[in-house]
Amino acid sequence: MTAKRAGFVKERRSIADACRRMNALGINQGTSGNIGLRVKDGLLLTPSGLPYDAMTPGDIVFMKADGTVPPGQREPSSEWRFHRAILAARPEVGAVVHTHAMFATTLACLHRAIPAFHYMVAMAGGDSIRCAPYATFGSQELADHAVRALDGRKACLLANHGMIAVGETLAQALALAVEVETLAAQYWRALQIGEPVILPGKEMRVVLEKFTTYGRRG
Ligand code: 13P
Ligand code: ZN
Repeated sequence: MTAKRAGFVKERRSIADACRRMNALGINQGTSGNIGLRVKDGLLLTPSGLPYDAMTPGDIVFMKADGTVPPGQREPSSEWRFHRAILAARPEVGAVVHTHAMFATTLACLHRAIPAFHYMVAMAGGDSIRCAPYATFGSQELADHAVRALDGRKACLLANHGMIAVGETLAQALALAVEVETLAAQYWRALQIGEPVILPGKEMRVVLEKFTTYGRRG
């Protein structure tokens, strides 16, 4: 199926570009990770098991809102359940990025959330980045855990697996995924030489308030 025939040409291209960008940024590798993007009457998903370097806009899969996939397409990401569940639970979210980034995944393997060791943790919408309990990849249980860990937040870790970042746009979700990986790397490094000092909840509330206008003009 060509991208033209399948519609959503611009959106498909943006997903394929974001996949290659994830590889270039070093926050994903191989066939790990996936992207979901809200579109009219459903969502676009990266195909399952296809290396990002080889992905073209025509490989991106359209899934209807009811979870069915019109025929003639590749198999959708095995994580379609959490993409669909997150988009259904969070009307303000337009894009979901999932990666097995090195440091986020390292912490997730320890079932360690990222606490407010740095004020930038507030970028993910709260005073910590939660770690969802382990469940098998692709399962409805994992989807349920992910929705819960993301409650009121824009990112979470997935135990023994990786991370999820969401945003209104794909660019925002991808930028947050990079931010989460940076925070995970900083937290990991701080843990090597001591016990990181955690900012109090009161201060994180101040930062969260400042972030509502940070970087916006006018
Ligand atoms: P897919 O290739 O099916 O998207 O799976 C990759 C992955 O990260 C599963 O969690
Ligand atoms: Zn994964």
